[in-house]
Amino acid sequence: MSRYSIGIDLGGTKILTGIINKDTGEVETYIKKKTKKDKGQEKIIQKIINTIKNVLEENGKTLNDIEEIGIGAAGQIDREKGIIINAPNIDLENVEIKKILEREFNKKVYLGNDVEIATIGEMYFGSGKSEKDYVCIFVGTGIGSGIVQEGRLRYGTTGTAGEIGHIIVDLGGRSCGCGGCGCLEAYASRLAIEKRIIGALKKGRHSDIENYLTEDKPIKTSMIKKSLDNKDELVTQIINESAEYLSSGIASVINFYNPSLIILGGGLMNAIDYFYERTTELAKIKALPTPALAIKFKKAMLGDFSGIIGAALLKEYRKN
Ligand SMILES: [Zn+2]
Repeated sequence: MSRYSIGIDLGGTKILTGIINKDTGEVETYIKKKTKKDKGQEKIIQKIINTIKNVLEENGKTLNDIEEIGIGAAGQIDREKGIIINAPNIDLENVEIKKILEREFNKKVYLGNDVEIATIGEMYFGSGKSEKDYVCIFVGTGIGSGIVQEGRLRYGTTGTAGEIGHIIVDLGGRSCGCGGCGCLEAYASRLAIEKRIIGALKKGRHSDIENYLTEDKPIKTSMIKKSLDNKDELVTQIINESAEYLSSGIASVINFYNPSLIILGGGLMNAIDYFYERTTELAKIKALPTPALAIKFKKAMLGDFSGIIGAALLKEYRKN
């Protein structure tokens, strides 16, 4: 009989909750809810609780069929105590999420951060499966990475290792959400790309992407992809620029850490081959010759699901 657990990925804009078969990595059922408009902790916590109830109901399972609950949050966390210290994008601060969910469901709850769970997902059932030393880089709202050495994640002294998004690629450059200037994620994250496109349109540049945009809807990956396919000048220029910065950050990682493999994930990497190809080609050119010769690149295999699969496996990972 298979073993199941619930995995939750609490991202910058959404909650993704799924029932995962822990033996095969299969996502049996999942629910996605937006959090953007939610203000106040109570509301978001209630939403998390509801997704768990709904996903069980939809799958026809009860809590008895589930071994535990794993959750990963985009922000600073206390793994031991199970507290979300702060998750700025979702307006959460000092939330004892482990305690709250354990009380509600009477199941053990494990907490990680978003990059950690996505890396664990790829480690067990994705592109890291047969590898031991690699770096998983996820390009999303921000840019984060998980460092895997001898099959284990490196957390660093304060548990914050892998913050590749805050590598400084432009001294005195664009301001970053961290308070600094010139950080990689201010140039190459999904958010940065969106901002650049919208900024250029406001300044009067024209682009194919205007055909898909509406007032209240954000830019979607599919729109960027369409405009690139249509050889739109503006979108191509901005994607090229981002690949230029991202490849510089990745080349620095190759030089500094000398990994055998870099796994690239996140919506844009996943959906837009051109972005992936250009970034990896440039990174190889920019890195020092010896480590560059040994580097392999792979796309993250699990797409949007790497986080929930990894969250569902947090207990398995930590007991090893
Ligand atoms: Zn920064």
